[in-house]
Amino acid sequence: MKKGLLIIISGPSGVGKGTVRDFFMKDNSLNLTYSISMTTRKPRENEVDGVDYLFVSKEAFEKAIENGELLEWAEFVGNYYGTPLCQVERLRNEGKNVLLEIEVQGAQQVSEKVPDAITIFMIPPTMDELENRIRGRKSEAEEVIQERLAKAEKEMKLIKDYKYVVCNDDPELAAQYIGLIVKRHMNLAKDE
Ligand code: 5GP
Repeated sequence: MKKGLLIIISGPSGVGKGTVRDFFMKDNSLNLTYSISMTTRKPRENEVDGVDYLFVSKEAFEKAIENGELLEWAEFVGNYYGTPLCQVERLRNEGKNVLLEIEVQGAQQVSEKVPDAITIFMIPPTMDELENRIRGRKSEAEEVIQERLAKAEKEMKLIKDYKYVVCNDDPELAAQYIGLIVKRHMNLAKDE
């Protein structure tokens, strides 16, 4: 069986990666599975452990790093985030296309380890709109909002490292575009 594709979506916090994902994950023809990340961040009100993230303690996360259990990991605004390696490998070996939704440092680590990973950067229509979206979430203190915005400015400079750029002006359209990118690579892989 052919190994599944590895797709990375990065983009500033608040750009709407989750909303766009909800649209394209409904398209079964993309054969996509979402890799659930591990984080030390506290769950938001609507988040479920084991669905949105694996919420763990700092100690458990550091142990996972030590044991080489993570494909990549990064610190983001005071918390750790990482991708469990065995989950990604198992799914890809089952022929599934695996989606990672990770920030830029992690994406860089994965690109080095898996050079044929498909990298997509999602941008907001404007930085003011990004701020509106982060504030609209009403889940973070002002200090954290400011940190996330400052981080976003820095992250936007790394667009050039990605193969594709998708603007999330309209989540449904952005999802359609991502679907086309995945289909293109599925076709290319078929011909290999
Ligand atoms: P949030 O706290 O808003 O859920 O996520 C903060 C940032 O961490 C987002 O840019 C998100 O894409 C990223 N992120 C989520 N999971 C991972 C992961 O496993 N690894 C890395 N490097 N970043 C992640």
